[in-house]
Amino acid sequence: MTNPDKLTVHHSGQDSTIVELLSFFKTKDTSDFIPYHAIIDKEGNIYWGVNFHEAGEHVRDNNTGNIGICLLGDYSKKRPPIGQVSTLYDLLEFIILRYGITNIKPHNAYNTPEHKTICPGKWLSDYIESMWGEVNYG
Ligand SMILES: [Zn+2]
Repeated sequence: MTNPDKLTVHHSGQDSTIVELLSFFKTKDTSDFIPYHAIIDKEGNIYWGVNFHEAGEHVRDNNTGNIGICLLGDYSKKRPPIGQVSTLYDLLEFIILRYGITNIKPHNAYNTPEHKTICPGKWLSDYIESMWGEVNYG
């Protein structure tokens, strides 16, 4: 049990439904394990995954204390629906208040020369950086 000290935002990278995404994890892992702490669908509904105090599996070599939130959809070329962004905003505000997390980044902020991802797409990356890139509640 560790308190989370950072948060990473993802997109699923495809226009699948929550049921399709969950069954994809199941085929990959043969268990009910969900690699994220929360998944937000396009209507803004939240599906809870791993407990906030346990590690998910969403950033290579960087899962300890790292909350992973995934938005269903591919946002490399378009922006997410407003209801989805609105839920993300509320959830991040809650997590910031609850855990005092100031390290909030898009997945691609963890890119290395060997492992690169465009996740969560340009629009979401820019949004995260501009809204929470320099959060300082100190
Ligand atoms: Zn990702």
